[in-house]
Amino acid sequence: MTSYEFTCPDCQRSITVTDPMRAATLANGCPVCGRSVTEGNFAL
Ligand SMILES: [Zn+2]
Repeated sequence: MTSYEFTCPDCQRSITVTDPMRAATLANGCPVCGRSVTEGNFAL
């Protein structure tokens, strides 16, 4: 499964996420602080 490196633009937390977690984060926001995030906050 592909994993991505998510970096929150607000709390700066970096989290490795899988595809479903990436989709959930895009839908619900940062899992740490709840800020809404965009595709650009994920790197392979
Ligand atoms: Zn955050």
